[in-house]
Amino acid sequence: MTQHVWLQNLTWEEVREKISESQGTILLPVGSTEQHGPHLPVGTDTLVAIALAESAAAEAHVLAAPPLWFGWSPHHMVLPGTITIRPEILVEVGFDMVASLNHHGFDKIVFINGHRIVNVTWLQMVGERAKRKLGVKVVIFDPAYMSKEFVGTMGWGEVGHAEEIEGSHMWHYYPDLVKMDRAKDNPHRHHPRYHVDPGYAGDTLCYVPSSPEDMKAMAEIAGGTSGEPSKASEAGGKAYHEHLVGRLVDVIRMIQQG
Ligand SMILES: [Zn+2]
Repeated sequence: MTQHVWLQNLTWEEVREKISESQGTILLPVGSTEQHGPHLPVGTDTLVAIALAESAAAEAHVLAAPPLWFGWSPHHMVLPGTITIRPEILVEVGFDMVASLNHHGFDKIVFINGHRIVNVTWLQMVGERAKRKLGVKVVIFDPAYMSKEFVGTMGWGEVGHAEEIEGSHMWHYYPDLVKMDRAKDNPHRHHPRYHVDPGYAGDTLCYVPSSPEDMKAMAEIAGGTSGEPSKASEAGGKAYHEHLVGRLVDVIRMIQQG
């Protein structure tokens, strides 16, 4: 039903038509391929970005570019399935993606980041270079930041990894890919002055990927999960998805008008 929103599914003639219909706007989902506990697939971060891109593109009548399935994930290499790309390489790949799209007339780019704070650094570098060298408009849509008030209303805890937020979203959009009965809770423990979570007053926004030793410990406690996936629900995932799609459509309108 939503196959037509994906650039890779269209012919070049259809793409050309869509560039003008969308005022040169395109969504670019980026995520990661990394372990997500015993209950979620390793593609989770990319899959959630795809889900948001697909729904918002259909609503706003714009295209979505083929997703970038890889992010910066050195800290998740302790468990199998993780593929990490160095951020300096990701900057080059991201820039070339934007430059190619811009060559054909796309000049409004919305990155949708499914890999949270870890991808933000290099996406900012891509965005800055693309604005300066190509004169395009670029925004980064980050679900963690765009849902920080909403998450509190759901009774969910803080942003972690493969926790109730991602679990709910995946459960709603990809019910066949989740194994919630395999999930293990690993309640957050953090210093009151140093924690990365947009919804938390003590958010420092100063993330450094965890060491292999810390991640090994996390893997032993809860199979690579941090947070409480037992609080996840399909209905919560639906509400979360709809909230974010609404915000994303707003951002698309903003970049088109502004
Ligand atoms: Zn994730």
